[in-house]
Amino acid sequence: MNTVTRPRILVVGAGFAGVECVRRLERKLSPDEADVTLVTPFAYQLYLPLLPQVASGVLTPQSIAVSLRRSKKYRTRIIPGGAIGVDLKSKVCVIRTITDEIVNEPYDYIVLAPGSITRTFDIPGLTDHAFGMKTLAEAAYIRDHVISQLDLADASQDPVERASRLQFVVVGGGYAGTETAACLQRLTHAAVKRYPRLDPGLIKWHLIDIAPKLMPELGDKLGSSARDILRRRGIEISLGTSIAKAGPEEVTFTDGRVVPTRTLIWTAGVVASPLIATLGAETVKGRLAVAPEMNLPGDDGVFALGDSAAVPDLAKGDGAMCPPTAQHALRQGKHVADNVIASLRGQVMKPYVHKDLGLVVDLGGTDAVSKPLGIELRGLPAQAVARGYHWSALRTNVAKTRVMTNWLLNAVAGDDFVRTGFQARKAARLKDFEYTDAYLTPEQVRAQVEGAGRPE
Ligand SMILES: Cc1cc2nc3c(=O)[nH]c(=O)nc-3n(C[C@H](O)[C@H](O)[C@H](O)COP(=O)(O)OP(=O)(O)OC[C@H]3O[C@@H](n4cnc5c(N)ncnc54)[C@H](O)[C@@H]3O)c2cc1C
Repeated sequence: MNTVTRPRILVVGAGFAGVECVRRLERKLSPDEADVTLVTPFAYQLYLPLLPQVASGVLTPQSIAVSLRRSKKYRTRIIPGGAIGVDLKSKVCVIRTITDEIVNEPYDYIVLAPGSITRTFDIPGLTDHAFGMKTLAEAAYIRDHVISQLDLADASQDPVERASRLQFVVVGGGYAGTETAACLQRLTHAAVKRYPRLDPGLIKWHLIDIAPKLMPELGDKLGSSARDILRRRGIEISLGTSIAKAGPEEVTFTDGRVVPTRTLIWTAGVVASPLIATLGAETVKGRLAVAPEMNLPGDDGVFALGDSAAVPDLAKGDGAMCPPTAQHALRQGKHVADNVIASLRGQVMKPYVHKDLGLVVDLGGTDAVSKPLGIELRGLPAQAVARGYHWSALRTNVAKTRVMTNWLLNAVAGDDFVRTGFQARKAARLKDFEYTDAYLTPEQVRAQVEGAGRPE
């Protein structure tokens, strides 16, 4: 047992689930009842659903990066770093700090909310040439990259180079991919007017998905409305298609087409953070298998939620698990805090139940489709619901004000096409943005915890 008298609660990850959990623990527990610590590589909570709007420049990056230190009331100790392994037996979390030091952090209760990473497949060239849409750095990088393609195509005298720089491929017809393709197509469509030497007809966006439908959660009618909007805007949609091979200057589709392009954006789903595999515990499709109370059966004081956990979806039944959405992560965050407190006070924990409220899809400008509480909406009403929902879900008034101001500014002044160049010479592979190679194996975790060796 620990040497301090108060139980130590360690929360891993400052996303929707982690932050919601920490804030509730701070509110409901007296400072004498427990010490709360949060491990997070960044000093903000990222509002991921608005990431495509950062990539397209409608919103500034700062406006969706909600500060973790807005209020004096926040008393949680924050460790700047990433958890790279958890040893359940000795109740220690191994952390790599932002200065690359490895520290062992003991806990009595651990709440695992490290989210997910981009799911990739064994496709030649994919991890070297694709960009993801999961981090703020990726969104900012893609924005610069897309604008630089216009700049370079404009300067080039070579028609082949021009054609390849002006084609863009997005893989993944879920909401992340669809919104990304829609928002960025709007950007290039508006930007090309500032490049009189470029033929707008050369700009081509492809949205492809191996599934037979875009965003099947929308249902047939709304799904086909979304498809019509995108096709009207000139986005070529190919369903039942994926990538066979990716190279620096072209991508080969599984239907045999070879598309000359320097831009491959990969949003074909997510998998749980690699942190989960370090536990050596049971998983369901890579997500930690937890009980409806979000605790790990058989391991006292271990909880997991959000994208990294397979939380049974009791509202749906039939053995379903909750989909990886912000809607669930947020509510699970509150709920898991209550269960940690219940466990700490020797009370009964409650199972998590939440009925899906629907889906909102912002396709840029006044284009949107939404299905709140099963009601199908298109155009302006859908856009009002989509933006209203996201706006109200932002945690702080400062973030709300920044986002609203950005939207108003964009509506009045239009897009801008500034290429910042901040990351121009930086590595741009998926693993560089998502740190997927930072984690330890379960054996390395044990060795680190026992002090038998220091991982590289
Ligand atoms: C482009 C895009 C659009 C989306 N649109 C919608 C939408 O419209 N509606 C919807 O409901 N959902 C949407 N989602 C999904 C939604 O954002 C996720 O389901 C949600 O963020 C999951 O919350 P989480 O807390 O589990 O993970 P996250 O919000 O991803 O948070 C995980 C946190 O953990 C941190 N972290 C990661 N690894 C470690 C580690 N090893 N140690 C410490 N910290 C770590 C991360 O930096 C991050 O802060 C979208 C996702 C994307 C990418």
